[in-house]
Amino acid sequence: MLITGKEMLEVAKENDFAVPAFNAGSGQLLTAAMEACAETNSPFLMAIHPDELKFLRDSFVSQVLYEANHTKIPVAIHLDHGASYEQVIHAIQLGFTSVMIDSSHLSFEENIEIAKKVVKTAHSVGVSVESELGTIGDTGNTVEGGVSEVIYTDPAKAQEFVERTGIDSLAIAVGTAHGIYPKDVKPKLRLDILEEINKDVDIPLVLHGGSSNPDEEISRSVNLGISKINISSDIKISFTEKLREKLNDGNLEAREPNVIFPECIEEAKKTAIHKIKLFKSDNKANLYYK
Ligand SMILES: [Zn+2]
Repeated sequence: MLITGKEMLEVAKENDFAVPAFNAGSGQLLTAAMEACAETNSPFLMAIHPDELKFLRDSFVSQVLYEANHTKIPVAIHLDHGASYEQVIHAIQLGFTSVMIDSSHLSFEENIEIAKKVVKTAHSVGVSVESELGTIGDTGNTVEGGVSEVIYTDPAKAQEFVERTGIDSLAIAVGTAHGIYPKDVKPKLRLDILEEINKDVDIPLVLHGGSSNPDEEISRSVNLGISKINISSDIKISFTEKLREKLNDGNLEAREPNVIFPECIEEAKKTAIHKIKLFKSDNKANLYYK
């Protein structure tokens, strides 16, 4: 069942759980995410970053649309970190039901200006918009990128940003980073900032860079009002670790993707299911049936 990002997140906010946004990366990861969510009866957003879209080609979106239209579980197709108005228009034309415009590196006023423009266009065709205030950190090894120094979202500015832009969900920076933290880096999550933002802002809040943060911290962020959590690195690592093992198992004859990949998909799926339960989105698909 294909739905919009707004429909997806409003139910999550009302019912105190977070919807996972899994990055596609490859067709195998789409399979892993679809199966994990179907088995746990969890809604989800298939997130596709512009770099992933370039690699996967536009036709990949038709595959996701087909899958979404042939499953009972609620699915939204989401553009992850759209970098420009043009990228957003491209995604809307392909059939995305949710887009993120990320101009968080610009000034507050410029960030508002571009988000407003995206909202005006996207809403005119029923597509939901996520935008970001503050900046997510970057560990240097992801497609999502970010900045090396996290700028925490200013709670005093959050509601003003939401009101002036008309966005449907807000990505906040509370100290997470994209990718996996180096061993010597301890992420400093400021859940007090999240709490404060949640008091003032009435639209769903989004947590990026949710990979490799301790489970306990993620659970607390869900309890404190996060309605969507992006997961990219964690499922890719599970997939790739198994792939490395398969390619090094001594069988030099192995070449068929349908022989090599199924176990890798299985590992990515296990990780996805772990996240789904952590976010409390399992068995929530029925909340979307009217
Ligand atoms: Zn992100």
